[in-house]
Amino acid sequence: MAENSKIEWTDHTANLWHGCTKVHLGCDNCYAEATAKRWGNDVWGNDKPRKEIKSFWKDLFKYQKKAAQANEYHKVFIGSMMDIFEKPMPLINSKGEKLSYSTHSLRSKLFSEIDLDMYPNLVFLFLTKRPSNINKYIPEHWKTSPPQNVMFGTSPVDQLTFEKLTRQLLKVSGYKFLSIEPQLTHINIRSMFLFRSTIHWIIQGGESGQRKRPFNLLWAKDMVNACNSLNIPYFFKQIDKVQEIPTDLKIRQFPRNLFHTLKR
Ligand code: SF4
Repeated sequence: MAENSKIEWTDHTANLWHGCTKVHLGCDNCYAEATAKRWGNDVWGNDKPRKEIKSFWKDLFKYQKKAAQANEYHKVFIGSMMDIFEKPMPLINSKGEKLSYSTHSLRSKLFSEIDLDMYPNLVFLFLTKRPSNINKYIPEHWKTSPPQNVMFGTSPVDQLTFEKLTRQLLKVSGYKFLSIEPQLTHINIRSMFLFRSTIHWIIQGGESGQRKRPFNLLWAKDMVNACNSLNIPYFFKQIDKVQEIPTDLKIRQFPRNLFHTLKR
């Protein structure tokens, strides 16, 4: 795990802005919202601006340099304090002043830099609870020729959100993953057998924190079996960050074949 991320399935996290709006049950105890309140940032909700995080570009440059020096690929999760595919929102700077550009300008700049191959050692994990927006906001040519160092992911929490969000994600070209956390009820992924070759990674975990909702280990055992039979790499993140993970669930696979196809 890299220096700046406590999230076990990525090497780094990076955020273009801070702020979001809740979309489903998985957002109830949003860590990023609690952090915004603690820091005095009024950036939550559809009627609030988002706050630009200027250090983003310097951080990416640093991660690229570090990965290149190690001759490795590093995964960068975008973002833990925002949703990269939220609709365009107004921005403020660190002093609370309104900026002339929106969140959409920032994400477009990032997509254009990925096109320019400025980060050859980074794999971008774009995780969203709004997968129906992905095709609206990515560059047109990504729909037919998606970048090889980008994975698009979504976060279902129960059967209903799994079916709805996965269907939307499957309309996107390129590499795709599910981050099923915090899982709130049993999810049967076999109901979507069709995605056998189109979902490249599944991460699963329960909720942590004071208001955590319970996680049933049987959900994890069932998911392991399903991933095995569908040949999908599986990563178990946590029960609740307090309970020890049983030995048979200490499974932390990565979509390695994908990374091997990348060119240096
Ligand atoms: S989408 Fe993510 S960042 Fe936005 S409110 Fe939900 S959990 Fe928080």
